[in-house]
Order: sequence, then C-alpha cells, then structure tokens
Amino acid sequence: MANKEPQDFSAVEQQIGNIGGENDSQSLGKLKFDPMNPNAPTGEEKKEMEEFLEKSRSARADMRDGTGNDIRDGWVPINREDLGPRSQFYPENWEFRVRPATVESIKNWSAVDDARIEQLNSVYNEILKSNVSIKNGDATISWQNINSWDRFWFILKVREYTFVKGEAKLEHTEDCSECGNPVTFTMGPNTLNFEYPDQEIVDKYWNTTDRCWVIDPSDFGVEDGQIVKLYIPTLGKEEQILNWVYAQVQGGKKIDEQFIKYLPWLLKNASKDRDTLDSQISLVQRQYKMWSLDMFLFMQDVIKNIAVTPLQTMKTKCPACGEEVTTNVQFPGGIKSLFIAESRYKKFGTK
Ligand SMILES: [Zn+2]
Repeated sequence: MANKEPQDFSAVEQQIGNIGGENDSQSLGKLKFDPMNPNAPTGEEKKEMEEFLEKSRSARADMRDGTGNDIRDGWVPINREDLGPRSQFYPENWEFRVRPATVESIKNWSAVDDARIEQLNSVYNEILKSNVSIKNGDATISWQNINSWDRFWFILKVREYTFVKGEAKLEHTEDCSECGNPVTFTMGPNTLNFEYPDQEIVDKYWNTTDRCWVIDPSDFGVEDGQIVKLYIPTLGKEEQILNWVYAQVQGGKKIDEQFIKYLPWLLKNASKDRDTLDSQISLVQRQYKMWSLDMFLFMQDVIKNIAVTPLQTMKTKCPACGEEVTTNVQFPGGIKSLFIAESRYKKFGTK
C-alpha cells in the first residue's frame, strides 16, 4: 500500500533536488532548507546566524505605488556576464530580465511553511514566473527553461531589485581565513558559489546548437555504450517529473530512485500532458535499463562532471588580502526570510 505521508514526497524530492550534482548536503542553490536539520549549527555559529537573520527581519519591501522614480519599477535587463560560466548553457540570443516582487507574491512568500518542501517549490516558481522574463528576439521563452541550478540565483536577482534600500542587505562578517582581517559577505547573486565542469569538457562535449551534451562512451572504453545525449535539468522538467513521481507514489507504484536521478538529464522535454509524459519517460527508461554496469558507473561519473553544483557557501573577495574567500553561513530560519516584508505597524501580541 502506498504511504501517503508528505515525508515520503520530500524524500523523493530531495533526491530530485540533487539532480544538479552529487552534493547530498543542504545547498543554497537547490533551495533545500530544513529548520529541523540535525546538522543545523549550534552555539556561537547559531548566534552569528541569528544576528544575520535579524538583518533580514528589518528588511522592508518596496511597496511604492508605481509612481516611483527609478528603473526598478519595471523590467530590468540582466547582464548575461553576471551569470558567469553558467551563461554558456543558455542560447546566446536569450535575454533575461527581472522585476521587483509584487506585494502579492511577498505575501505568499511570507506565508509559506518552510518545513513543507512541496509548498516551497511552488512559491519559488511563482516568484520566477512573475518576476523573471526571457526573450528571444520578439518571442517569449518560459521561465521553465531556466536551468535548475540557477533558480536561487534568479530569486536573489529578484530580491536585489525588490528591496531598493540598503537596509535590506543581508550581511555577515567573519575573520578572513587567509589573513585574519574581518571580511563581510553580502547575501546576493554575486556571492553565490558554484562548482563548474572543467571548461575543456564543456568545449569538447557541450553542443551549443542542440543544447545538449553528446558523449560517446566507447571513447572511454565502455564497450557496449551507445552515444548518449544529456540535457540540462530545467525548472520545467523538474516540475513535471515531480508531479509524475507524486502520481506514481499515490498510485502505489514503486519508484526507481536511481533512474529518477538520471531522468532530468535523459529527457529532452517533459510534456505537461500526462500520457505524453508517460511515454517520454518509458522511452528513456528502456534506454536506461539497457545500461551495463560499466555504462552505469560511467554515466555516474559523467553526470558528476557535467553538472554545475550550487555550493552551500558564499564567496567574496577579502578587501585586505585580495583573496577570494568563502563562508558557510546559511539561513537557519529558512529561505522565506529573504523576502520577509516586516510590517510598519506595532506588533499585536507576542506570538
Ligand atoms: Zn584576507
């Protein structure tokens, strides 16, 4: 009998949340936050984080009425260079724009229950859907084509344009690991830290035109391997796959978790039509089942090497020594603190 507890879903979801890479731990980029996490820091670290969070509570959403006086009232173009090496995984002529989150979406954001991973997903997607725009010439490209590993980056971009005033800055200061001088990390798209595939691998195996990785396992001594095409996991694919997984679990069907891990890479598209999606998945599952052990292990290695992995650290350049340094500070209160719109009225009661 199918177990319908939400925990079941979140376990599968965490599995899927990890499709961008091999990193099993919580990661900013994959938006996995669990306040009940046993790895949550304690003592001194916790105190530091509480101070860090305190700053987010004092953040004010920009609630101006549209008569505001700067560019942030409308769509703001994103410089593709801001994406760093991740830019190469989008077609060259795509243009990205963001706009500030509306009062409405901040309300939804603030009401979300951090412990409910399935709730979080829809709120994150809602923010991207309303506040990120992708254009290819005159054509509009759906937000669902955003690569999964860029989700948090785009959310932070939206945040950057939502909180206009400096007091919304989330800062954390600690001693530089290189020179011991204090260094301040500001939470934002530019301080997110990613692990990238080797550029020579990208140059050799990434097909810019077809937007897929083309790899011939026989070049690596995998005898029975056929040429594989691997597509980057996107938010849209991830959403459809999650829905499919939920339906499977609810229907009492067994989920092959290993296969689910490869699924977003093997599927070129994930149809919104359930029957079409079923046959798309069956097709790649047949392909997957034919893999020999050698092929399976090889593919494990490939995914590890072609994925961009969002790391659970922030990076910044130390002003004293000039070294790029990282910090492990996270958001124990959950990611919703990023968009908290603290009210201006006096608190009613203590709860
Ligand atoms: Zn330093």
